[in-house]
Amino acid sequence: MSLQIRQRNCPICDAHSKEVITKVDFELFKGHPMNGGYDVVQCTTCGFIYANTPVTQNELDRYYTDLSKYEDKTIGTGGGYTQNDKDRLVVTANFLNKHIINKNARVLDLGCANGGLLRELKGHGFTNLVGIDPSLECVNITKEEVGCECYQYSLFDIPESAGKFDVITLTHVLEHVLNVQQTINILDKLLAPSGVIYIECPNATYYKEVIHAPYQEFNAEHINHFTEVSFENLMGNFQYKKILTADKIFKIASDQDYHAVYGLFKKDSTYQHPLQFDNAIRSCIDEYIEQSEKIFSEIRKSIATLPKDRPAALFGVGQFAFKLLKTDIFNSSNDFKLFDNNRMNVGKEIKGVKIAHGSELINEYKIAPFSIIISSLIHEAPIRKNIEELFEKNNLKPPVIVGFSRFLPS
Ligand SMILES: [Zn+2]
Repeated sequence: MSLQIRQRNCPICDAHSKEVITKVDFELFKGHPMNGGYDVVQCTTCGFIYANTPVTQNELDRYYTDLSKYEDKTIGTGGGYTQNDKDRLVVTANFLNKHIINKNARVLDLGCANGGLLRELKGHGFTNLVGIDPSLECVNITKEEVGCECYQYSLFDIPESAGKFDVITLTHVLEHVLNVQQTINILDKLLAPSGVIYIECPNATYYKEVIHAPYQEFNAEHINHFTEVSFENLMGNFQYKKILTADKIFKIASDQDYHAVYGLFKKDSTYQHPLQFDNAIRSCIDEYIEQSEKIFSEIRKSIATLPKDRPAALFGVGQFAFKLLKTDIFNSSNDFKLFDNNRMNVGKEIKGVKIAHGSELINEYKIAPFSIIISSLIHEAPIRKNIEELFEKNNLKPPVIVGFSRFLPS
């Protein structure tokens, strides 16, 4: 009897045939449906690179719905944007302002968060702005602070009564969704005749240019890896003609560059797009994997030098910690402790170990000392400072603390 493993077809062209590029494995929070990892594959028909995860949309939705019941609504959202976020939204708004002449066009920002993009568009004189977001808190903030229409819906349950839009923007969403074609279908139904769609995602062509942490772009959230070619193939399927696609660079928390691909597309029911094979992407991804592997091996060597007589504590439980915890370095719960300053993560469990808040570090250390691994590369400097201050305040000599951002190419 053979076990039938669910597979994803190509999110762009729906072809089944694919080639495995690499296996990605991570140890996620208990109950996360993507535990067990997935293969990163390339479609042999159009060249698109994606996560061949067996997880279904229902399983993902159920996990996040259950999770949100227990999450503290007062943290995480509502805090407004960082300067880097704001800079990115300003660039997007300037671009849209240049290409959309009619300032009374009805504009929908899907997944509008706190309304940052809508606010910038309002500043350009757009008068007919609408936000949609699954979070009620975001909806309320957008309504109050931007002063525009805003509704609470998830992408898949927007009713027809929402009406039609001349412009729809969808930024940093498509890389997350299992069913990409269904998503475009939804946009297509919401768009007025001769309307335009703006989409933006991380640009897989440039993952190799700035490595934020090894294999960082292959994670439990980003499961589609777009390029300008795949944007054209995807939208072309739905008879959208390219007005423009390009790469943009913005800054993230660590002040590192982050590349995004963006595109503006116009519906043209006479348009027939010939599917093009993405010839350039594979060598870019291969190079990214090769560099990631090199960095990961340096990190393993560095961890191997830690004192053997005590456990290690991981500080910063994010995508890199998930990958680290899957390695044989952390075999049993006796081997490690977990700390994170994000209260959303505190109390969650990985391999039977509960995540404690960073403020518990000293109390725990006094009970039984440990070495410290800063498992967030992006936030290494502030975390190190935070830890050193905690020890100093308590008149304790800090233990060995290792971080890994020095292994990243500068
Ligand atoms: Zn394909």
